[in-house]
Amino acid sequence: MLIGTEEMAAGSLAVGGSLMTRPEILVRALLSAGTEEQKRRWLPGIASGELLVAVAVSEPDFGSDVAALQCRATSQPDGSWLVNGAKLWCTFAGRAHLVMLLCRTGGEPGHRGLSVFVAEKPSRLGHDFEHRIDSGGVLRGHAIPTLGYRGLHTFELVFEDYRLPGSALVGEQGRGFYLQMESFATGRLQTAARAVGVMQAALRDTLAYTAQRRVFGRPVAEHELARAMLGRMGVRLHASRQLSFAAARLHDQGGGQVEASLAKLYASRMAEYVTRDAMQLFGGMGYGEETDVSRYFVDARVLAIFEGAEEVLALRVIGRSLEKAGDEMRKR
Ligand SMILES: Cc1cc2nc3c(=O)[nH]c(=O)nc-3n(C[C@H](O)[C@H](O)[C@H](O)COP(=O)(O)OP(=O)(O)OC[C@H]3O[C@@H](n4cnc5c(N)ncnc54)[C@H](O)[C@@H]3O)c2cc1C
Repeated sequence: MLIGTEEMAAGSLAVGGSLMTRPEILVRALLSAGTEEQKRRWLPGIASGELLVAVAVSEPDFGSDVAALQCRATSQPDGSWLVNGAKLWCTFAGRAHLVMLLCRTGGEPGHRGLSVFVAEKPSRLGHDFEHRIDSGGVLRGHAIPTLGYRGLHTFELVFEDYRLPGSALVGEQGRGFYLQMESFATGRLQTAARAVGVMQAALRDTLAYTAQRRVFGRPVAEHELARAMLGRMGVRLHASRQLSFAAARLHDQGGGQVEASLAKLYASRMAEYVTRDAMQLFGGMGYGEETDVSRYFVDARVLAIFEGAEEVLALRVIGRSLEKAGDEMRKR
């Protein structure tokens, strides 16, 4: 999975995100808590690429604080659900056929009242879409212009009395927070791999460019300082890759949640450094949209923001786990 993701992201961060990361997050949730009927209905289409996936967790007022989400699904006497509320930053929501949706279903505040649904919709191109369903409900999407990551659109979504069948609920009602977080752990591994892919592309292009571009009578790459920069780019790329592979091995053994966050945090920040060096070594051409390194640079910037912002991973996931480990060591 990581190797496939790296390769796709080396072509385009958006391709990795749309074809690997989002399906992976939903598939994890379905494998973990879906019914046989749900698995049969969605997994083959997701695996073949016929069903594209978006994930709608973030909202206008809540992103990092997932437990505070407000978009609500209300159960109806016939077993269906009516969704009302807004989601923000739902990447690929236009093209997607399936939206993994985290909603508040219970009266309890915080993480206990959340549930995961799969909302089916037609795939739509363009910056705006509106999907009306027969029962009268509507889902509207509007693309948000972004600095980078432009190979796919990320949407603001508004649900108004949008009816979902009872069979759209994945897992137990009220257990959605845990299911979402479990799925995000794999999403973070994916994002570490996407960062590695972007670094790989940046290093590849920079090696090629600096070997042929001559300054002061010699190729850029033959100047000591440039060579040191290339070496540093290589080290950051390889360290990030090995960290993500190590986390993936632990994940295969049923653990690795914290390590996935660690790999994601580190690789995302390294991707910013590596793509910056790439742009620098390209000189003026690095700043022109004509060369891909300018895209790598703006794409890399988003990696530390989504799939768990850097600060939240450092503080709440990695920091807490280090604290716990420290307590245990002291007890021993
Ligand atoms: C291009 C793009 C695509 C995205 N795609 C998706 C998607 O497909 N699905 C989806 O659901 N979401 C998506 N997101 C949303 C993304 O996951 C959120 O932006 C992210 O979780 C941060 O939430 P926020 O934007 O609300 O920032 P906030 O939560 O408002 O955070 C603002 C700042 O405060 C910091 N912060 C937060 N809590 C703490 C704390 N306890 N201590 C210290 N600092 C803190 C954060 O690190 C950040 O720097 C996407 C975002 C972008 C930009």
